[in-house]
Amino acid sequence: MIDQKLVAWGRSGNIIREIAEYGAEQAKIVGAENVYNFTIGSPSIDPPACVFETMDRLRATVPAHELHTYAPAVGLPEVREKAAAYLTRTFGVPYRKQDIIITCGTSTALAVLTKVLLSGGGRAMTFTPYFMDYRYYAESVGSTLTECPTVPDTFQLDLEAAERALTPDTMLLIMNSPNNPSGVVLRREGLEGLAKLLERKQKEYGHPIYIVADEPYRDLVYDGQEVVYLPSIYKNSIYCYSFSKSMSLPGERVGFMALPQDLDDYDDIYSASLAAIRAFGYICVSTMWQRVAIDCLGATSDISIYKGNRDRLYGALTEMGYTCVYPDGAFYLFMKTPEPDAEAFCRRAMKDNLLVVPGDSFGTPGYVRLAYCVSPEVIERALPTFRKLAEEYGLKANK
Ligand code: PLP
Repeated sequence: MIDQKLVAWGRSGNIIREIAEYGAEQAKIVGAENVYNFTIGSPSIDPPACVFETMDRLRATVPAHELHTYAPAVGLPEVREKAAAYLTRTFGVPYRKQDIIITCGTSTALAVLTKVLLSGGGRAMTFTPYFMDYRYYAESVGSTLTECPTVPDTFQLDLEAAERALTPDTMLLIMNSPNNPSGVVLRREGLEGLAKLLERKQKEYGHPIYIVADEPYRDLVYDGQEVVYLPSIYKNSIYCYSFSKSMSLPGERVGFMALPQDLDDYDDIYSASLAAIRAFGYICVSTMWQRVAIDCLGATSDISIYKGNRDRLYGALTEMGYTCVYPDGAFYLFMKTPEPDAEAFCRRAMKDNLLVVPGDSFGTPGYVRLAYCVSPEVIERALPTFRKLAEEYGLKANK
């Protein structure tokens, strides 16, 4: 029998892609420079120089058939070793080579971990606003995703809401900071409070509650804002990292997940993760790209361009009278829509070839997400359209 739930999801499409495709069609009609596309969270700046240097070095020193061969399903040993050493050195949480599993970005880690931690029963929870794929991961293994509200307007953790949302069958919290879609970085105080709450609830419920830290944006922060390393404050945390965003390598599909040595049920989670990786077919991440990425671990693309975009866009939009959440990181700006129906605002903006994504897709109506990983020129060209809309909606400019 064909899974009708998957059929329905497949048919429902993805609103971000839909709007982006509309933009591509419009570009053919009015010219690409007249379409202001803020829909897709794909890096627009080149990878750091070390990526190209490492590629050249590997090509010059490693026979081609070795560089392009299958990697072990779990990842190359020397790559796992280097990732473990890096995490231990940087965050002070001790990892060994065998604690690291190489993945196709954090997507694989999320799909695998939701399968492993939820298939036997139990549900997942996340905080709004959130990356929409979390729901797919949870529901596709027959589980559910509970959306826990955060503090309005700041999107920091609301611990009372978290306590209300937790239930005896909560097995897993998916955390994402810096956040897609808001750009918010979760503050230490709230996270330490959450860690205490989870420790209490684990005892009360008599089973572990795991945090899966989805952190593809960890290295994209602009004002020195601290990004708390969750495994350092809560032992049942599995850290998931990706080279997609900070190193501008989304197409190469490289990342890793790290299991702390004192994780509850470590052996079962490790073995089941290896099995799930095989079962999903997420095996053997590119040998060459594992080696390139790991040799550059810690380097980032020139993120000063994103910072410049963030400053310009946030400054201009708030001056026009829009309300935006100040984004400390990632490359997203979450803006309150001047009418409650965010989708209606998106459609109105689309008429002027300004493409943004409704917050409803992220569990947070009344907002739109702007992916500002675009060239600074796109922002400059788009500002008059934002201004025109602000005037049409009668927003009061802040001088
Ligand atoms: N998690 C979040 C919050 C994201 O925004 C994305 C991609 O946009 C992913 C995970 C998946 O990224 P990747 O699999 O490329 O690491």
